[in-house]
Amino acid sequence: MTELIVRNLHVSIEGKEILKGLNLTLPKGEVHAIMGPNGTGKSTLAYTLMGHPAYEVTEGEILFKDQNVLELEPNERSILGIFLAFQYPVGIPGVTVANFIRSAINARRRALNPQDKGIQLLEFRKQVKEKMELLQMDPAFAGRYLNDGFSGGEKKRAEILQMAMLKPEIAILDETDSGLDIDALKIVSEGVNTLKGPDLGVLVITHYQRILNYIKPDVVHVMMDGRIVESGGSELALHLEEHGYEWIREKVNGLG
Ligand code: ADP
Ligand code: MG
Repeated sequence: MTELIVRNLHVSIEGKEILKGLNLTLPKGEVHAIMGPNGTGKSTLAYTLMGHPAYEVTEGEILFKDQNVLELEPNERSILGIFLAFQYPVGIPGVTVANFIRSAINARRRALNPQDKGIQLLEFRKQVKEKMELLQMDPAFAGRYLNDGFSGGEKKRAEILQMAMLKPEIAILDETDSGLDIDALKIVSEGVNTLKGPDLGVLVITHYQRILNYIKPDVVHVMMDGRIVESGGSELALHLEEHGYEWIREKVNGLG
């Protein structure tokens, strides 16, 4: 199957249940947005999809390409084609942006073929240069330590650069819009739009509708209290921007 399937996902952190039966299907080639109030479990979903050890899955399943994703380590999930752009990227002093990305590419190549010698330096440089131009990044950026002293916008661009270089099949962007001014937001969105295609499914997690003006979602999901409680077209995002989340809360409570 070429879709990411999340079924009845229950996740706890330190014994507290955060995700409470979440269902989601993300086909390759589509862009889905998840919107929801703060503290509702959006990042918990992102981390759980990637396999963060602090998040304990107590029930449910995650499937991609006929594989039980929950049985895989984070690096194996990456090799399978899942990518997470962090809400709060961590700094790695001593490791340059270029070296970090090259190591990740080579690790994936070696996982597929143990004899692989890794990407040629010239070829790698050419690709990085191309993608950095796309994201309007200063070439000197590649030689800086990853996220070390980066501004908010630089961190988000670095995440999208990694995505562009690793060519995932499912990309999860966790509040990639937060901390970006409007120019940076446009550049990052353009980057994502250029990478979009039949072989990439994108999950845009956001608190605000703003980024969805630039990355047009096929489907918008509303998450509340650890579940997807409403799904619709891109007009749902505009409706939320105007009316907030309260009407959904009332609707859900009314049904419940
Ligand atoms: P969102 O991304 O929608 O704002 P999160 O997934 O970050 O929500 O958080 C959901 C809930 O889980 C919040 O109540 C938050 O305090 C709690 N939480 C998140 N991460 C941790 C953690 N590492 N330890 C304890 N509680 C956490
Ligand atoms: Mg979050």
